[in-house]
Amino acid sequence: MAQADTLTKPQTGEFSLFERLEQLEHENVFFGYDKDTGLKAIIGIHNTVLGPALGGTRVWNYTSEKAALTDVLRLSRGMSYKSSISGINLGGGKAVIINDNPYEPKTEAFWRSYGKFVESLNGKYITAEDVGTSTTIMETVNLETDHVVGLPEYMGGSGDPSPFTAYGTYLGMKAACKKAYGTDSLEGKKVLIQGVGHVGVYLAEHLKEENAVILVSDINEDRIAALAKDIKVTAVDVNKVYDEPMDIYAPCALGATLNNDTLSRLQCQVVAGAANNQLANEEEHGKMCIDKNIIYAPDFLINAGGVINCYFEIEGYHEDRVKAGVEKIYDRTIEVIETAEKENITTNSAALALAERRIEQIAKLNAKL
Ligand code: NAD
Repeated sequence: MAQADTLTKPQTGEFSLFERLEQLEHENVFFGYDKDTGLKAIIGIHNTVLGPALGGTRVWNYTSEKAALTDVLRLSRGMSYKSSISGINLGGGKAVIINDNPYEPKTEAFWRSYGKFVESLNGKYITAEDVGTSTTIMETVNLETDHVVGLPEYMGGSGDPSPFTAYGTYLGMKAACKKAYGTDSLEGKKVLIQGVGHVGVYLAEHLKEENAVILVSDINEDRIAALAKDIKVTAVDVNKVYDEPMDIYAPCALGATLNNDTLSRLQCQVVAGAANNQLANEEEHGKMCIDKNIIYAPDFLINAGGVINCYFEIEGYHEDRVKAGVEKIYDRTIEVIETAEKENITTNSAALALAERRIEQIAKLNAKL
């Protein structure tokens, strides 16, 4: 398996796709282009040892094709580890679509041409929604391929995965608090949720149940106002988040918010949120968390509720089954934090090692058959 830091270390020299694939150990990258609809899609397949590569489709206005490619490689790798550490039989994949107006509605033909692209991989890749896509878009994609999950409930799908993502994140947060404070109660804890979108609002509900003190920050003030109707929250200016004293920082918007600048300012004991790829540099910033006495609950471990939900859409859906799967996140987070302490490594490295070990063991087993 690739070294944990090959992904986030700045790459010097000319960008070489094949060098990058070798470093990160991807199996395949597929390019889909349709002149008539304007579709420009890339599907990255990182690892299929445990099962078909599942991951969402992200639509974004990337600054360059290289940026899109880098994103799909990074995200598909993350999916391999997320599914592996969650004990589900899925590999890691992801798709990105390069588009100048990610949130503008696209034509039926656009999404069906994307569906044909997914179908051409014969099930090696299973898609779902992500930033810029939705359950209704997946309904159109489904007209061309059955290799899609996260379909609306009225189609027999599992619907929006965000409530389960939030539930797992909440349990991971509690586990990290158990290690930081000796109790997993969040009562009176000052928790800052950065981004009150799909996941953030459900996380706020769990925190309310525990009588936590909830701070929120969002670039979209309407989202804060909508949440404040039901839950007592204090808004924090988006530019003041990292200077605000708090017990727990819960990034639920963007990646790479744990970096040199923010970590020099953050005043908290625990970081536990749903955003993907929170550490700008996995090794360097994971170590900075240790130096600052911050327990970092690895993102791909605690935000796996959504993929677990999608997995059971394939395996046979029952909400209790999903809940039981997601609830394992609590013990796994404790295990990862304790391993990191014992081996004097970052929590991110401990989680990656656990995920890699499972893939290696199953690969060995498969080789015997
Ligand atoms: P979302 O788009 O619904 O919500 C994101 C929120 O963050 C929005 O309200 C947006 O206005 C806000 N935001 C954007 N930039 C911000 C900034 N600089 N400061 C503060 N707020 C900002 O997304 P979501 O589905 O809630 O997902 C949140 C994060 O969790 C994403 O990183 C996503 O990749 C990750 N994640 C989501 C799921 C899921 O099931 N939805 C699963 C795993 C991981």
